[in-house]
Parts: sequence; structure tokens; C-alpha cells
Amino acid sequence: MRAEAILFDKDGTLFDFQKTWAPWVGALIRELGGSDPGLRAALAEAWGYDMQKGRIRPGSIVIASEVGDLAEAVLPLLPTHDRDGLMACLLGTSARLEGVEVVALAGFLAGLSGSGLQLGLATNDAESVARAQLRRVGAEASFDFIAGYDSGYGGKPGPGMCLAFAAHAGLPPERILMVGDSAHDIAAGRAAGMQTLAVLSGVAEYDDLVALGVPVLPDITHLPAWLDS
Ligand SMILES: [Mg+2]
Repeated sequence: MRAEAILFDKDGTLFDFQKTWAPWVGALIRELGGSDPGLRAALAEAWGYDMQKGRIRPGSIVIASEVGDLAEAVLPLLPTHDRDGLMACLLGTSARLEGVEVVALAGFLAGLSGSGLQLGLATNDAESVARAQLRRVGAEASFDFIAGYDSGYGGKPGPGMCLAFAAHAGLPPERILMVGDSAHDIAAGRAAGMQTLAVLSGVAEYDDLVALGVPVLPDITHLPAWLDS
């Protein structure tokens, strides 16, 4: 059944995960760890960051967690910080982050919506952060629906954001394709009764995604041809 709408994950799907987030995590570790190499190493361990390679490790908490979980993971290491201050730091710095697009998103998404598809975004990031990143690359207006973990529908792998998009689009979930780079995205889409597709522009490996029993594409630039096939 051909999809009439596409619900995208954000990080690792629209934006290249490592190029966008690894420099952010590295800068936070340098800032919070200061001149203490032991603290910097402990922060890197807690967030699943490889200091030698400057990359986020597979399985890192950074990949699919909400910002509150990232704060909780390092608070015991930072006795001079409180949770609210740390959350403000994480949200503030991530909102200013320039996402590195997998493809020039404004033109790519305009092409999809021009072909009659409704477009949605479901991210475990904050909605305000997602909107700021999309606005910066001229892509916010391409979406009919944008939800974050804090939009009132819960986070992935729960189906709340997916079902909210289906209701917004006025479509049964089986007419919608969920596209993401992680098992969380596939689980959320399936729990809502959607079609699902995985891309390799995130941290998950090909074998891990194929094992979920979903089609796997290198990245979203292959999506239009796949939809036509
Ligand atoms: Mg993702």
C-alpha cells in the first residue's frame, strides 16, 4: 500500500548524527570537565563518547534519550551543579546547534510534499530544539506536524507521537511510513500500526537494522526512488 504521509525521526535521519551531535558532546565534556582529565573521562563514559575518535559510541545514552536523562546520567559526577542549571545548559547549547543536514532539506522535503505527501517529524528531542534546527535550514514550514518528547504525546518507542500525526493527517496509520535510524523509531511506528523504513545515517549498524525486518536505505536521498518502486 503506497504511503500518503511520511513521519520522520530527526537525528540520524534528517541530520547526520555524528557530524551534528559528536562535537556538541565533546564541547560539553570539555566545558563541564574543565582541567580535570579524570572528570572528563568519567563524563565521556557516562554519555558513551569516544574521546580519542571524537565520536558517539553505538549504544550511547545520547542516541535516543531525552535531555533530562542526559542530565541525570552525569549529575552524580558534578556536585557543584544542580539539575535545573544543567538542563538549561544542555537545552540552551543544543538549541543553538547547527544540525548537519543529510541532504539540503528545504528542497528535498519540498519535493516530497510537492508530490502530495504529508510530512511529520517525531523526535525524542525537545520540540523547541527541533523547530529551531529546522528553521535554521529553511525546512520547518515543510512539515505539517512537528512533535518532541515534550509535546504531550510521550516519547518513542511509545506510539503517541505517531498516532498524533495520523490523527493530524486524517489518515489511518497503515497509510503512513515511519522513517528512522534506530530501533526506537521502528518500534514506535510498528506500535502505531505504521509502515516502517530504516536509514543508515545514524549510529545503528546495517545488521542491527536488517534484523528488525525492515527495509534499510543508506539515507533519505534514496527515499523517492524507493517510494516509486
Ligand atoms: Mg534518530
